[in-house]
Amino acid sequence: MESIVLFGPPGAGKGTQAQRIMDSTGLPQVSTGDMLRAAVSAGTPTGIEAKKYMDAGQLVPDEVIIALIKDRIQEADAVNGVMFDGFPRTIPQAEALSGITEVSHVIAIEVPDGKIVERICGRYTCADCGAVFHDSFNPTTVEGKCDSCGSGQFKRRADDNADTVMSRLNAYHEQTSPLADWYRLKGIFHVIDGDREIDHITEDILSALK
Ligand code: AMP
Repeated sequence: MESIVLFGPPGAGKGTQAQRIMDSTGLPQVSTGDMLRAAVSAGTPTGIEAKKYMDAGQLVPDEVIIALIKDRIQEADAVNGVMFDGFPRTIPQAEALSGITEVSHVIAIEVPDGKIVERICGRYTCADCGAVFHDSFNPTTVEGKCDSCGSGQFKRRADDNADTVMSRLNAYHEQTSPLADWYRLKGIFHVIDGDREIDHITEDILSALK
């Protein structure tokens, strides 16, 4: 079982690219952010605990995240590995992951800090299939209609606002970016310029995975 890690700051396009490369890799997307948002909506104890950190743009404690991943990796679709999106985000999470599954590639999508706020503040997702769009950079082809599934229902994340983005960016620089060296030393770290056309980024990711 070999997994892929999609690494990068909030708003780098990890979720967008995960959806695009799912078919080629055959690996399911495992987004800790999506799992936490589902827990918040369902009002589970994990969701209630996580919400206060998410609203403040801070990382949810490692033990909560590691427990979620340990459960998720037991599911049938994870038998050949998964594509992690937004995990690991700290050294303790990466250490825990190394005891759970083999990581074959870490794809680091780089976007300058100055571009992150505008990228995050305009994004929205299809409420039915989860396809990701952006008001300016990647709008739906037909207004109000999802390109992937045709739904007319969209949602925006509560934490996609200018105040929370700065905290999320700080958490990334302080707690997550040290992981780059951890994975670079293992020789599995691929840097992809994420400040380009979405299709070009997908092509580069697929080449890095060959
Ligand atoms: P994301 O959807 O990946 O941007 O995550 C949204 C929020 O969920 C983050 O700002 C954190 O509060 C929390 N979160 C998601 N993944 C993790 C993780 N691996 N470790 C800690 N907190 C996380």
